[in-house]
Amino acid sequence: MAGGWFGFEDALGPEQVVHLWRPRLGLEAVVVIDNTACGPAIGGVRMALDVTTEECFRLARAMTFKNAAAGLRHGGGKAVIRADPAMPLAEKERLLRAFACAIRDLTRYIPGPDMGTDERAMAWVHDEIGRAVGLPRELGGIPLDEIGATGHGLAVACEVACRFAGIALEGARVAIQGFGAVGRHAARRLAERGCRIVAVSDSKGTIVNEQGLDVVALLAHKAKGEPVARFSGGRAESLSAILEVPCEIWIPAARPDVIHEGNVDRLRAAIVVSGANIPITPKAEAELEARGVLLVPDFIANAGGVICAAVEYAGGSEAQALALIAEKIRANTEAVLTRARRERIATRHAAEALARERVEKAMSLRRFGS
Ligand code: NAD
Repeated sequence: MAGGWFGFEDALGPEQVVHLWRPRLGLEAVVVIDNTACGPAIGGVRMALDVTTEECFRLARAMTFKNAAAGLRHGGGKAVIRADPAMPLAEKERLLRAFACAIRDLTRYIPGPDMGTDERAMAWVHDEIGRAVGLPRELGGIPLDEIGATGHGLAVACEVACRFAGIALEGARVAIQGFGAVGRHAARRLAERGCRIVAVSDSKGTIVNEQGLDVVALLAHKAKGEPVARFSGGRAESLSAILEVPCEIWIPAARPDVIHEGNVDRLRAAIVVSGANIPITPKAEAELEARGVLLVPDFIANAGGVICAAVEYAGGSEAQALALIAEKIRANTEAVLTRARRERIATRHAAEALARERVEKAMSLRRFGS
């Protein structure tokens, strides 16, 4: 079934779309609860000036699939607030507290941080309604970027992908685009497993060392606020040079759509494990798979953050979160790569089929579908 009020509804959802309009408070927001068959929806609160309802729906659906693929007892949802995230702090606090009060009764939606919001914002929301994930440590939160939840999961996905591709992880050459919360921890975890991190980039440029970068020294350099290209332990190259570094594993951990039809032929990797969300356009993905490149889709490989949030919500510890991330991402990467190989389909299709089947099964077990 397609169609519905907005034109983007289908058999899975969205279950509920809520428009919040409080002009006196300067609050304009949309909450989309896509599907709650697996449990209450977890999804970030995005604050930006150009957000749309349709974007909110697409992000909520992505969360339904990501949470189901990860095997969490949570459905997918999302909220967008149309406002400037760089507004004065006191104003931002007032707006987020107003937003929290407005969603008090939407108990099937658990807000988390996203673009334009952070753990402090979640603390304000939690203070109002007692419901939010991604909280500061002092409030029982597990700081997922600080502990490197997503990078930890990416390293596990790389381990599994290497086994499927018949490549030894130890000594494998790795190139990482983006050296923020995701890329930094992926580099650290893979170096600990014996990989050679041959190139890393950030928004200013690329640093290359075919013998392997000293990741600990590079992390210390970056922590001083220096761009990676100014690191003395490698050769500085242009921003786009990261694309064509010969390697076994290439990890996008920066922006969406970085690999597209115009540059896909420059990539010289055997495996791409996606840390960023939608870093490869569909056409480029098809071309890479036709060339025999093994792809681990974003919502399988980068689910470490949301798994960590689910553990936090359930009152678990940091150690439990890290163990669960490894367990779930190992099992899911294996399931997706096995299915793609067996059915001769793209790994993204295999991942979506796995997630959709889990949601449909959960819906069939609920009295009213979801
Ligand atoms: P971040 O802001 O901490 O880091 C982003 C990094 O990318 C920075 O090093 C920045 O310099 C670099 N960068 C920006 N533009 C670049 C470019 N054109 N070329 C090379 N590098 C560039 O962000 P993050 O939390 O590490 O997230 C990275 C990506 O992963 C985003 O797409 C995010 O949505 C996605 N993601 C993050 C998490 C998480 O747990 N943080 C979870 C799932 C997905």
